[in-house]
Formats: sequence, structure tokens, C-alpha cells
Amino acid sequence: MSSLPQIPCPAHTQAESMLSRHFGRETVNYFSSSPLNRLSFLRTEHPFLSAALKHPSTRFVILNNLAPLTRSPSELYYARYDEIKKYVPENFFDKSEEDMIKDYDSRVTLPHLIFLGLDESRKGDGLTWKIYSGAPYFALDVTPKGSEEQQANAKDVISTMEAKGMTFYQTRVVMTFSADEAAIYAQARALADWNNRNSFCGTCGHTTLPVNAGTKRTCPPTDAARIAQGLPAERPACTTRTTISNLSFPRTDPTIIVAVISSDAKRVLLGRSKRFPPNWYSTLAGFIEPAESVEDAVRREVWEEAGVTLSRVVIHSSQPWPYPANLMIGAIAQVSDPVHEEICLQHDPELEDARWFNVEEVEEALRIGTSPLGEKAGPEYKEGGLRLPPPTAIANQLIRAAISTEFLTGEKHSKM
Ligand SMILES: [Zn+2]
Repeated sequence: MSSLPQIPCPAHTQAESMLSRHFGRETVNYFSSSPLNRLSFLRTEHPFLSAALKHPSTRFVILNNLAPLTRSPSELYYARYDEIKKYVPENFFDKSEEDMIKDYDSRVTLPHLIFLGLDESRKGDGLTWKIYSGAPYFALDVTPKGSEEQQANAKDVISTMEAKGMTFYQTRVVMTFSADEAAIYAQARALADWNNRNSFCGTCGHTTLPVNAGTKRTCPPTDAARIAQGLPAERPACTTRTTISNLSFPRTDPTIIVAVISSDAKRVLLGRSKRFPPNWYSTLAGFIEPAESVEDAVRREVWEEAGVTLSRVVIHSSQPWPYPANLMIGAIAQVSDPVHEEICLQHDPELEDARWFNVEEVEEALRIGTSPLGEKAGPEYKEGGLRLPPPTAIANQLIRAAISTEFLTGEKHSKM
């Protein structure tokens, strides 16, 4: 088993403030707190993108069927432009977005190249653009697709990288990268996956074009391919074009995840699904539905899955989860009185079991019984004891916070 990565160092300034004195320091979860400055407003500036593409400091995170190119299971490989040149021509960003839309031809498929941001810690050898400087980072999807030539070029990049000893790391969930690399990979994976799933317009069903350096897609009003078929270039009307912004945006699905404490604060409610290994429990979780607040979703999910009725819900922290596009919104909640603590699994049969665990048992499990799913618990773990998710999972952080007296009494001794 590889050693577990650390939790991210906050990318934000951790200075003492009235808010930090009152609420304590922020919990920063794995996959968040990217070291890159996204500079989202530069994604439409093609002269910037064009310079960034070819700059010697620029690095590319490469994905093949969403598997990241790695040196080892714990280290991403960052390619240079020379290594992907065959797949991404130098003039890739030379046309303005306006011209790309105007000249749209659905017979031509473009590689999915996504601008991730600038690593501002590398100002010295980095690219300077207006007041910003750093090493530009892109994500590139080399999954072979499109024309035969494009597929051949993608396969060429893949085989060249593999010949160098690099591997496209196949795993259900990556939990082995350093915190910084995990955050970069999460952004790359989420956007590559979203682009793949949205090559057709959700409104009119015609093909879409990636714009804003791979972070939005548009349904162009004309298509040169139609002229070749003896049709007018104009495509059928699409309501996405009649609004101010004819763009479709990457999807993020909000999900709640909650550590529930009993009315006396001496027990924690945890549940398990059938796919978990024996003795493994976690916090309850579920999707937020349309027109539902985070707090309402927490109360609904806990009642549906465990029959428990909650009182106060407090939002604790959040975790991007790029499988495929979730944002886990972590909460801590409490039951107001013992009457509402009774567990009932009859409403929604999602959980195999839900149970109240004593704080002492949970504390011990946090100490000796955590591991990623599919891996063994630590050497001190005793067979039959409670097992819990690792610190890289927000579930672990929520359970930890829920049983800390600091969180319950509100007495913060923050040394920020
Ligand atoms: Zn459309």
C-alpha cells in the first residue's frame, strides 16, 4: 500500500480574522485548494492562450479515457509542448473565438485542450501576460477520436509516452497523488469528462464546439459541412442562441454528506452500503434535488435513508469530487431528542445498515481503522472493529469534527 497523501495546505491566506476567531480554521479537503490560479477571464483571450500553448514553461496533464498520464501511481507526468505538438498544432488558438464560431465545420473535430491556470510560484521562468506571470497548465485529452489523422496523432502521443516508461493510471478513484497534484488532476478530469459528454447540444441535438479554452461549449449558428451537402450553412434554430449567452457550462452536481450526532452528543450515526467491505461504515450522503436548500437536503436524506429526524444542520466544509462532477457539501447535524433517534431502514432501501456508534469507538476507528476503499486497515486494526474512510475523504473530516468537543462547545482555540 502506498503512503497516504497529506491534506492540502490552504491556498488562501491564513491570517487571524474575526471570522477565524469565531469559527476556527477552515477545513481544506483533498481535491480542493489547487496551486493554480485559474484566471478564468483569460480563457477568451486567444493571444494569451496562443502564447501559453507554446511557452517553454508550459505543462500538459494528459488524459486517455480519463486515466491520467503518470510517472508512478503517486506522481503525475507533466508533458511539454514538444511532446504533444503532433496532436495540437501551433496555430490551435490563433483564431479568435468569434472566428472559430463563424468558420465552424462539424467535419473537423478538435482535440480537447483545456486551460487550467497559471502556477504563480514559477514566475522566474514562467510566461508574463499583463500583470500575471507563472507557468501555464493545460489538460489534454488524447483519447483517440475524430478523423483518422487525428486518431493516428493521438495514438502517436500515447505510444511515445508509454515508450518513455509513463503509464495511464487506471483506477476507480485516485487517492495517491500529492494534495496539489490531486487538485490539478481533479480539474482536468472533471472538464475532460464534461467535454466528452457534451459533444451534442442538449437543446437541438446538433454538434457543439468547445470555446473558452475548453471550459464552455457553444451551439454554432452555421456549419460549413451543410454547404457540402447542398444545404444552407445556417443550422435549424436553437433556443440556446436566442438568449444573451449561447453557451453551455460545465456541470457540477451538488451532493450533501453529513455526520449526525445524537441529542446527547455521545454517539454518531453512520451507515453502510452493500458494496462496502465488512465493518466499514461512513457518513450518509445524497444528491441535492432541484429547489432544495443544503439543509433541507441533509434532513431529507437522513430521514429517507435512516429514518432519523434532524434538528440543526451546520455546513462544515466541501470537497470537489471529480467522479464525474460532484461537489460534496459537508455538514454536521444533530438530533434534538431521543425520540427522533430511532433508526428505520424501511423508507429508502439504499443502506444495508445504519447504526449509532459511541464516540469512543469512532475515536478508535479514526486512529487505527481508516483506509481507502479496497485497501487494508493499518497494522493496529483488530478484526471486527469499526472501519472508516481515510483522511482524504470528507467523510473522515466530518466525523473527526463532529466528535471534537471544540466543535460542539464552540470554544475555538485557534492559533492561526
Ligand atoms: Zn443547439
